[in-house]
This record gives sequence, C-alpha cells and structure tokens, in this order.
Amino acid sequence: MAWTESDLERHARHLVLPDLGGPGVGRIRAAKVLILGAGGLGSPLAYYLAAAGVGRIGLCDDDHVDLSNLQRQILHFTADVGRSKLESAAEKLTALNPGVEIALHPERLTEANAEAILRGSDLLCDGTDNFETRALANRTAARLRIPLVSAAMERWSGQISVYRPWLGGPCAACVFPTPTAPGLAPDCATGGVLGPLPGVMGSLMAVEALKLLSGAGEPLDGRMLLYDGLDARMRVVGLAKRPDCPVCSGLG
Ligand SMILES: [Zn+2]
Repeated sequence: MAWTESDLERHARHLVLPDLGGPGVGRIRAAKVLILGAGGLGSPLAYYLAAAGVGRIGLCDDDHVDLSNLQRQILHFTADVGRSKLESAAEKLTALNPGVEIALHPERLTEANAEAILRGSDLLCDGTDNFETRALANRTAARLRIPLVSAAMERWSGQISVYRPWLGGPCAACVFPTPTAPGLAPDCATGGVLGPLPGVMGSLMAVEALKLLSGAGEPLDGRMLLYDGLDARMRVVGLAKRPDCPVCSGLG
C-alpha cells in the first residue's frame, strides 16, 4: 500500500513507536477487522482502529440509537437518536479517517449468516452483550481460525481475553461453557453500567487488536485481564483449556 505525505503525518506517532514502527503500521493498514456490536465496547474500539488506519473495518449490529445509549456509546450523538447504529458509526469513523473502508452488516449474527460475515476477516472483536451471540462468535471464529478479542462488562467491572485455540490455548467456551444463571449477571439495562467502563474495556480491546495485527508484544491468549473500577484494581489470571471442550478440543 502506497504511503502519501499525509499518511506519514497521520501515523507519525505510531511510525516512531518501538515494537510497532513502519512494518507494524503497514500490517495494520492491510488488515480487515470485524467488530460485533456498535455500542459501548464497539465505540472506543472502532474509533481507535479507524484512527490507527485499519484497512477495512466491518461492523455488525442491527440496533438503533436510543437516548439511554449516549451515556457510554460515544460513537453516537444526540442527533443520532432513532438512527441505525451502523449509519451513525460509519459517519463518525469516516470523518475521523476517510482512508478506512467501512463495511456494514446491519443484522444480528445468526447460525445462518455467521460464517459469511466472518470469512475473510483477519481478526474478530466481540463487543456484544448476550451469551448466545458470544458463543456463536467463538465457535465460528475457532472454526475459521480467526483470532478473537472478547470483552465483557458488568456495572463497575470488566474482563478481556484473546482466543486462538488452534495455538493450544483455551477458547471462550472453555472459560464460559454455559450462560450465567438468569439474575446473577444483570444486563446494562437492569444492572446499570458506569459510562467510562466500556471506554476502558473497549480501549483494551483496541490495544490487543493492534498487537495481534502488527505482531507486537504478548497478546492475552490463555490469560484474562480483570478490571474493577470500584476498587481501582486490575489483575491478570491464567485460563485453562478444557480437554473436553466441544468447540476447540480438536483444534490444538
Ligand atoms: Zn474451548
């Protein structure tokens, strides 16, 4: 991909960054990333990936902007209430970096469409908020051998990991084999969520995504980073692969 003077200036702070540099920025610019969910986690994630010049960003979401989203979903503004989240997101991301191709999938991920939507992506980032979609994203990504960055939040705390089970580590189903019992894990609408929490977790997703795309550093495979906003604590725990995992036991 050719570099113009303006590309060099736009990416200047990454081009001089140790462990990233020209080769890393070049790999990021050639990459195709699919983001599930243009909400709380997807907002900072998509902004930072567009700002970093990811070649193509695919967005999958069938939702519309609600006034109660604006407290944390910073892709969407007051004038966007009632609009499709994807249209609203594409407008902001294109304004931030017109060089990024935005591909819109205005639908919910289903067994029928998952493989077609994910195929061809170099990386999948899951910012959705329900167990079924997350499990489907994990199964499909594992089958297609697409690295998965997955984060989740609850009230004041969040968690994030990277799953590439064909390299020998766990997949998301090894860690979360069954849905949490109803009532134990409230969704954002009933349990509430601190506005900047998706900012923290979505930004951590962007860090892991840029590492995976560029080859920098040590991704969070086999580890989970836990953030507790109320206690102001962050810690990393090890994750184990389940030998009998129905998703990844045959993959490595
Ligand atoms: Zn597994």
